[in-house]
Amino acid sequence: MVQQLPIAKDAVSEEPARKVRPPVDPSTLAHRDLRTGEWWREIPGFSGIDAATFHDHRWQMKHTITKPEALLEAVRGVASDAFLKDAAEGFRIAPMAVRVSPYLLSLVDWQSPYEDPIRRQFLPLASTRLPDHPKLTFDSLGEQGDAPVPGLTHRYPDKALFLALDTCPVYCRFCTRSYAVGPDQEMVEKVSLKASPKRWEEMLAYVASRPELEDIVISGGDAWNLRADQIRELGNKLLDIPNVRRMRFASKGPAVLPQKLVTDDEWVKALIEVVHRGRSMGKDVMLHTHFNHANEITEITQRGLGRLFEAGVFVRNQTVLQRGVNDTVAAQTMLTRRLAWVNVHPYYVYQHDMVKGTEELRTTVATAESLEKHVRGSAAGFNTPTFVVDAPGGGGKRTVHSYEYYDHVTGISVYTAPSVKPGQVFLYFDPIDLLPEEGRERWADPAEHAKMIAEAAEIAHEAMRST
Ligand code: SF4
Repeated sequence: MVQQLPIAKDAVSEEPARKVRPPVDPSTLAHRDLRTGEWWREIPGFSGIDAATFHDHRWQMKHTITKPEALLEAVRGVASDAFLKDAAEGFRIAPMAVRVSPYLLSLVDWQSPYEDPIRRQFLPLASTRLPDHPKLTFDSLGEQGDAPVPGLTHRYPDKALFLALDTCPVYCRFCTRSYAVGPDQEMVEKVSLKASPKRWEEMLAYVASRPELEDIVISGGDAWNLRADQIRELGNKLLDIPNVRRMRFASKGPAVLPQKLVTDDEWVKALIEVVHRGRSMGKDVMLHTHFNHANEITEITQRGLGRLFEAGVFVRNQTVLQRGVNDTVAAQTMLTRRLAWVNVHPYYVYQHDMVKGTEELRTTVATAESLEKHVRGSAAGFNTPTFVVDAPGGGGKRTVHSYEYYDHVTGISVYTAPSVKPGQVFLYFDPIDLLPEEGRERWADPAEHAKMIAEAAEIAHEAMRST
């Protein structure tokens, strides 16, 4: 039986209902309780590290772990032997290299590492690995196909993605650019996008040659790994191009190594200088970052971001929706509110891209739709993220509910992008293990794959023809 929801009184009565809100439940303000103190000392490897050392970006970078054996050694004593064995095998079969800062490692709840949202993003386990969906690839967004020069993706009319380098302060399992970011892995040979002045010159020349390009995203890799002089050089050269009006430095740094904002004065100064110079020229320069869970925001994050805010550097956030990390209303609401508390605007929540080796982190389009419904209204509109699918194959970002057709049985959703690639359809595929039995059975039969796709595309075309 369908449950009847009450109709809002104001909708049926001429007298507006006047209510005083009851006193707030203190638990709803938990987003303000940022982790503080010296929590990292609980990990044997960091027990002797004082706050001044732990919160120095040089120490964090020097002790960033890049070998699975070293990582597992650091948490021996807090994680069980069974977990360590599982993780060692997980690393062996993962497509992404390992790179984890001591800060991130210290934020994992080692009493429950299987469930922990930070562990799930950075430490793969063999036991939770799911078979890849047959439609997963390494460059699901087709960035290389839209690159007129290596590392410069020009897909939207007025915007370009400037991939300045191929390294990051950490490596995320779910990275959409695992085709290029980080060192080669046993199972993946990567495209080279090293920080190279010669390559940058070609990319800058392209930007200058295209008067329609107003918006440039400087990413990689991660702008956190550019030196201060490189931030100045790239920032100023882009500002000097008359058609460039908006720039965003993209970095996961604030979420994984916020200490840099507190102790790397030269880098922070360089960023602020570029932002201020841009403003004096009537151009907008921002920092775009990437928090996925409220646990990534601590007192040191607030201190670092506060420094940027005070200097007039605005920060927006892009989150990746991940199963078991942030796929609940509680996790998304908490993240949204905590971001706002530290003056970061929640901008996008992305449906997890269709990248190989991370199937257990993907979830369904229906989940994203439901989350958006609940998150919208929990904070002011400008502090509410838009849930999007970055349409596989290069359609760009589409709001998650804007599909032309969505088959919940086969998990196929069909999107169009009229102003990016008119006349084309773009397909997203839900993970097979979350489909109803009928859908799982059809995907188990390779002869059904093309049929399911043709059916979905045909129904979508039919729907479009009739509107
Ligand atoms: S920081 Fe960004 S570019 Fe680097 S691995 Fe993570 S998601 Fe990929």
